[in-house]
Amino acid sequence: MRLGVISDVHGNRPALEAVFSDMPRVDMLVCAGDVVGYNPWPEECVAALADREVPTVSGNHDRAVVSGTSFRFNQMAAAGVEFARKKLSQESMDWLESLPEYRTVADGRVRLVHGHPDDPDRYTYPDDFSPRLLSGEDLLVLGHTHVQGYEQYEAGIVLNPGSVGQPRDGDPRAAYAVVDLDALAVETHRVEYDIEKVAARVRDAGLPHSIASRLSEGR
Ligand code: ZN
Repeated sequence: MRLGVISDVHGNRPALEAVFSDMPRVDMLVCAGDVVGYNPWPEECVAALADREVPTVSGNHDRAVVSGTSFRFNQMAAAGVEFARKKLSQESMDWLESLPEYRTVADGRVRLVHGHPDDPDRYTYPDDFSPRLLSGEDLLVLGHTHVQGYEQYEAGIVLNPGSVGQPRDGDPRAAYAVVDLDALAVETHRVEYDIEKVAARVRDAGLPHSIASRLSEGR
């Protein structure tokens, strides 16, 4: 079984479309959260995942949009949350609200959580990966740091597919991963997309320009 793995789409429709068209054939797609926030297409990104019935966990931005509490966010993040709250349909808000913080798929072989198995809001960078994060699953999928990386242990794999919509690992290309669950083999992928198109929409939407400028730097 081949699994497509995405995370931290953050309302970046051109990046998500580039990932969908670049991704090899997979049997299932999963998402480790932060579908919305920052970029100007929250509704389209939620609809794309909801229509495909992609098993998804909630990220801190998804929860902030649903609850209306972004007081712990910086100005750039708070602006993205406010924008999403204005733009999202009730149906999409309901879908975001329905997302669990933890979930397993593929008969328990795959576990998804946005940040860390002990705390969905905790950052787990590739340097922090360890087999102790696993609890019986073959693959633990994390997001939140926007840094692509994976480690393969005897007990299983810990993977962050990187961020589709706002990479922060120095490579501005949209990130995703494909995992062969039978062979337990991971492929990480990067794909270019039209960052200028996002920058133009960010300006038109009145969102902070820093949301666009960080995309071209991948940070
Ligand atoms: Zn995020």
